Formats: sequence, C-alpha cells, structure tokens
Amino acid sequence: MRLAVLKERRSGETRVAATAETAKKLVGMGLEVAVEAGAGLASGITDEAYAEAGAAVVAGAAAALAGAGIVLKVRAPLAAGEGDVDELAAIPRGALLIGTLGADAEAAGRYAAAGIEACSMELLPRITRAQSMDVLSSQANLAGYRAVIEGAAAYDKGFPMMMTAAGTVPAANVFIMGAGVAGLQAIATARRLGGRVSATDVRPAAREEIKSLGAAFVGYEDEESKSAQTAGGYAKQLSAEFYAKQAAVVAAHIAKQDVVVCTALVQGRRAPTLVTEAMVAAMKPGAVVVDIAADAGGNCALTRPGKAVTTKNGVRILGYTNWPGRLPAAASALYARNLLTFLSTFWDKEAKAPRLPEEDDIVKGVMLTRGGAVVHPLMKPAA
Ligand code: NAD
Repeated sequence: MRLAVLKERRSGETRVAATAETAKKLVGMGLEVAVEAGAGLASGITDEAYAEAGAAVVAGAAAALAGAGIVLKVRAPLAAGEGDVDELAAIPRGALLIGTLGADAEAAGRYAAAGIEACSMELLPRITRAQSMDVLSSQANLAGYRAVIEGAAAYDKGFPMMMTAAGTVPAANVFIMGAGVAGLQAIATARRLGGRVSATDVRPAAREEIKSLGAAFVGYEDEESKSAQTAGGYAKQLSAEFYAKQAAVVAAHIAKQDVVVCTALVQGRRAPTLVTEAMVAAMKPGAVVVDIAADAGGNCALTRPGKAVTTKNGVRILGYTNWPGRLPAAASALYARNLLTFLSTFWDKEAKAPRLPEEDDIVKGVMLTRGGAVVHPLMKPAA
C-alpha cells in the first residue's frame, strides 16, 4: 500500500506529517512511502534524508497522491479555490486521510462525497491509551515552551533576579493564564528562566498542578467552578457572572505582571477573553502579553491574531498563530510520531493495511467519514 506525505501549503505552516525517522518505520511496516519534494525543508528535513529512509521523493502533490491508500497531513488538504493546487481532488477514493483537519460538518461532507476516510486527530479522546497519539498535547507542550521563550525575548529586562556589582535586576513577574498542557509547560519554562511565576485556571484539578510546579495560584473559585471540568478533562464554558468575578480577581494581579502568557481554551468555542483592554492599559510599559490562544481568537482583547502589536502604553502583545509551527523541527518530530503510533496501533500486520474498528473509542473519536458517509456525531449535518 502506498502512503503519501504532502508538503503543507497553508499559510505559515512549517510542519510536516512524517519525518525521516517515521518514514523509515512506515517503510518497515510494509508501506511504500511517497514524500512530496520539499515537504520537510521548513522542518529541517531534506529530500535526501527521506530518500535515505527508504521513501520515494516525488515532485508535486498529484504525483505523491497517485495511487495512495493513506495520506498523512498536518492541516486539511486544500480544496478547489483554496490555493494553486486542489489537493482534495487528487486524493484517491477510499484513501485514509489522517491530519488535524479542523473540519466542520460541511468539510466532513466534502470528504464523504470524495469517498475519503478522514480522521481528524485533534478530536482524539484524552484517554490514557491515546496519550502517545495525542497531537494536541504534543503540540501544546511545545507552544507553551515557545511562548515563554518569545515572551522573554520581547521583554526588555531579564527573567532571573540578577545581583551584580552595578546593582540588582529584579526577577520578572510571569503570569500564566490557563494551566492545561501548554500552561503547565509555560510555568516550568518560566521557572527555569528564573521568573517569579503565578498561574490561574478554572478547573479545580489545575490548582494543585500549578502549585506542584512551584507557581502561586491566583484565581477565583466558587460553586460553579467546582464542576468546571467536562468528563473529557476540558474546561466548560462558564457563566458571564463567573467570568466577571474571575476578571475582578485577576485584574489587580495583571497590573503588576511583566509577562502574561495566555493559553486558556474552551473546546469548540472562541477562546475566553481574560485580559481586557482596561487590564492592558493598567500594565507597565515594556510588559509583554503572549497570546497562544490567538488561533481561537485570543485571550487578550487587543490580540491581533497573526501579529505582534505594541499598545499606546508600551505593552507588547504577541498574537502569533500556529505556535507549535514556530519550533518546526521539534513539532514535526512529535506530530509525526503521534501519527505513526496511531497508524501502527490500528495496523493489520498480515494485510499490511490499516484496520480501524468502528467500536474502538479512539476510532470513534477521530473518524469523520467512512464508506462515503459522515459518521462523526459532531459532524453530521443538522437534521
Ligand atoms: P485546553 O487547551 O483546552 O485549555 C487550556 C487550559 O485553559 C485548560 O487547563 C482550561 O481549564 C483553561 N481555561 C479555560 N477557560 C479558562 C478561564 N476562563 N480561565 C483560566 N483558564 C481557563 O486544555 P488542554 O491543555 O488540552 O488540557 C485539557 C485537559 O486534558 C487537562 O485536564 C489535561 O490534564 C487533560 N489531558 C489529559 C490527557 C490524557 O489523559 N491523555 C492528555 C492531555 C491532556
């Protein structure tokens, strides 16, 4: 069976869905691996490295996709009108497509109509068995790290307290908003750099996790927040009253911060606004807000997704999107291993082909389409 790895064409996407390391393992599973020329360059992987791993390097998406039974992607394939190449039309009917497709019901309908068996890895259930395939975790962890590194670089003083003959530089106050996978890594990174770190979250379990990493917990808790976590481990959308009370508690704290790292998300919704315009206005000149929730609209009211801006009072707001893509080699390495684990977990060794049992919880979580129909409960067109 042929497996195709395409060059990512969406704007700002630097990652690739297979590395030379995973390509070699895929070849070892009995697959014929075709990599589009140049696919790994932005992640530091040359065509030669793929060829050495046993993959065929071919020019163009259509050549890579010809006869493919499996297609690995980072982002959704381009459809007609979305770019210079119609990747979707070149995917053979019946092929298994695996990526972070970010699909809605309409896109799922397109995959079904094209006869593509589409799996969207960001929908993976957060269960122990799925941990090694968890693309959200692997990428969020790197995003949290990178956010602090870029925040530190944009901040015009140092992070650690420095006692020098010329005087003392105080430690930076760093506040992490949202202590999920990205936020916890941000706490650890900011601590390693010597910052004085505090963090907030709404899920009750997060308070202890924050403290166990040596950061101070700053936040608002009440009856409502006691059940702020869904069965899947995510934060729930909370009431406007709760958010107002939370804002009142964090506002005074934010005014004293040098670097604020925003990571808060509510699954399937726009990111909650946690840092208002008034809060930014109260911050010191030279302070930095790093908003890695920018892909979901951002946690800061002044974030301009994709951009870095400086406010009139001298606060820098880094609202770049695709934070994992700012560390492409590491992000690709982990993402590619996540996909390899998924594929090898559902691999029929005898047939040398994938086998995705309908009743499996992981398969149920990620599979959008099967046999020309939309099967995912979240993607079915409204009745
Ligand atoms: P996420 O990216 O959806 O959100 C980031 C964080 O923002 C979360 O901690 C969330 O509680 C927080 N948040 C939301 N609204 C907020 C608000 N108003 N104020 C402050 N914080 C707010 O979350 P995630 O990083 O994907 O992690 C979600 C959960 O899944 C966590 O409990 C994590 O430990 C768990 N998890 C489990 C597994 C596993 O068992 N396989 C793997 C990964 C993550």
